[in-house]
Amino acid sequence: MKLIQSFLTQNPCYTAGRKIKVKGLMLHSIGCPQPSASVFVKSWNRADYDRACVHAFIDGNTGDVYQTLPWDHRGWHAGGTANNTYIGIEMCEPACIKYTGGATFTCSDPSAAKAAVARTYNAAVELFAMLCKQYGLDPLKDGVIVSHKEGCARGIASNHGDPEHLWNQLGIEYTMNGFRAAVKMAMEKGIVTTSETTGTSSSSTSPEKVKEEGEMRYNRISEMPGYAQSTIIKMVDAGIISGGGAAKDENNRPADLNLSIEMIRVFVTNDRAGLYDKKP
Ligand SMILES: [Zn+2]
Repeated sequence: MKLIQSFLTQNPCYTAGRKIKVKGLMLHSIGCPQPSASVFVKSWNRADYDRACVHAFIDGNTGDVYQTLPWDHRGWHAGGTANNTYIGIEMCEPACIKYTGGATFTCSDPSAAKAAVARTYNAAVELFAMLCKQYGLDPLKDGVIVSHKEGCARGIASNHGDPEHLWNQLGIEYTMNGFRAAVKMAMEKGIVTTSETTGTSSSSTSPEKVKEEGEMRYNRISEMPGYAQSTIIKMVDAGIISGGGAAKDENNRPADLNLSIEMIRVFVTNDRAGLYDKKP
C-alpha cells in the first residue's frame, strides 16, 4: 500500500482542529464516477468547502491512499455521531458508471469497473489493517469496522447505502463481513507501507523537492517532515537511535541524528506497525 499524506489544510473541518479518541473505522464509497483521489483532494481543500471532510481517499486507478486528515482529527464523513469516534475512508469509484438517481447506476464497462473496485477494496483492507494495529482495534469486534450503510442502520450515520450499493450492483461478491475477515487476515500477514508527503502539506510540494529530500540528511527532529516527528521522538526517547556527538536541539534531543528521508520513512512505517511500542 502506498500512503501519500496530503492534508486538506484549507478545509474548515481541518481548521476546526477537533480531535477524537478513535474507536472505529467507517468505510465509504464516494458516490460519483470519479476514480482520481487527487481530484477530490484538490476540490475539497478549500475554505468554502464546508460540506464534508474525510481522513483518506483511495484512488480507483492506482489503489494509492491519500491521507487528508490526521487520523485522530474529527472528520465530517458520517452525517451522524460516528464522526465523534470513527475514522472515515472514501473509496473512489470507476469512471464508467453513471448514476441515474439516488444510489442506482448503470455501467458501460463492467470489467473495468470491477478492476477499479477491486483495487480500492484491496487497498482499503491494507489501510484498515494498519489502522486497527495503530489503534489497537479488533476488526471482528461488533461495531469496530462498519460501512456507511451499516452506520445508518446503527443510528450513527446518515441514510446512505455505500459502499455496498456499488458492490451489489456490479455483481461483485464483496460484503462487509468478508471485508472485516480480510482485514483480520491482513493484520496477521503484515502490511508493507510506503509513505510520502505531497500537495498541501508543508514539508514538500513538488517532485524536485522530493528528489532533493532523497539526498538530504536530517539532523534535528524539528527539520523532519511533520508526519515523522512523533516516531523519531519516540525512538530517541526509547534509546533506539541517538546522535553521534553531544549536540542537542531546543528540546534537549540530539541535533546530529543524520537520517535520510528513506530511513525516516522506514521508521514511520515500522512505527505504524507497532514495532516501537512497549510490549504490554
Ligand atoms: Zn458514505
